[in-house]
Amino acid sequence: MELRKDPITRSWVMTGDEPTDGPPRETVCRFCPDSPDATQVIFAVPSPNGWSARSMVHPRPLYHIEGEPGRRGDGIYDRMSSVGAHEVLVENPVHDRQLWSASDDEIGQFLRLAAERIMDLKRDPRLKYVSLYKDFGPNSGQEFSHPTSQLTATLFVPRRVLYELRAGRDYFVSKERCVFCDILAQEERQAARVIEARGDYVALGPYAPRVPYETWILPRNHEASFERTSLSKPGLRLNLAALLRRTLQRIRTVTDAFHLVLHTSPNSLHPSKSLGYWKTIDDDYHWHFEIMPVVAAKARSYTFKEVYYSPVSSETAVKQLREAKIDG
Ligand SMILES: [Zn+2]
Ligand SMILES: [Zn+2]
Ligand SMILES: [Zn+2]
Repeated sequence: MELRKDPITRSWVMTGDEPTDGPPRETVCRFCPDSPDATQVIFAVPSPNGWSARSMVHPRPLYHIEGEPGRRGDGIYDRMSSVGAHEVLVENPVHDRQLWSASDDEIGQFLRLAAERIMDLKRDPRLKYVSLYKDFGPNSGQEFSHPTSQLTATLFVPRRVLYELRAGRDYFVSKERCVFCDILAQEERQAARVIEARGDYVALGPYAPRVPYETWILPRNHEASFERTSLSKPGLRLNLAALLRRTLQRIRTVTDAFHLVLHTSPNSLHPSKSLGYWKTIDDDYHWHFEIMPVVAAKARSYTFKEVYYSPVSSETAVKQLREAKIDG
């Protein structure tokens, strides 16, 4: 597998021919405590019984920390090998305790783990961006049955985040305000697309959703970096944990499959000559989670790839999610 850059959109893709037999079937869970198939543990959040959340080397990593990126041109094209890091974040030691059924304290420990790992990987100036994501349920690309998220650290900023960074900077240049803060202010005023606010955090349906029931969770107070807030203000983690749990419970009343991704600021240690957004990044970017439900009955939406087609408006989706019966 190698990374290739699309010369038009300037986004990197990972491509190559995978062996056709696919990944081996999971027989024993690698992520349960004391698993004989466990990979190396990188960091664990300790608890009285051992650990509450921990990160491990991905058994089939897409990115490898050793080696040279070997970035090279091929005519007008650009390619490099997949140098970076790929970890599995075990959210809970209990095999079937997913984020929506765990306690707020347990989810808070997982959020701390995520923040610690992102912070640590950002100490490597080669790595430009750290992505945290979770795929869950049928047709989501879920890899493991144990409650896990994944983390990749890459030598490039993924496309969607790059778009957001550029847009955030452009907005800031003309208005001297953060576009996400302005969105939050308007959404809280209009209240048509706010699903729930809890302490410092808000869950809302975006004005222009890419898929039905798309949901964002953002901090109400401006902050570019998830890991910085999370580690410097640990008291806020429980509010975020509760909102994440309750939002996932709401999403699960609509579908049992979703993608969840964290968008946080890129690595400011990485020296960038061509990208001006590093200078104002703390003012113009605002971290958030995005949840993209996989709604099979609305699968038609995915055939309109050129323009996202979302046959449920956020206003309707939010009304339904707000009124969803959840555990509490
Ligand atoms: Zn397990
Ligand atoms: Zn902001
Ligand atoms: Zn985003």
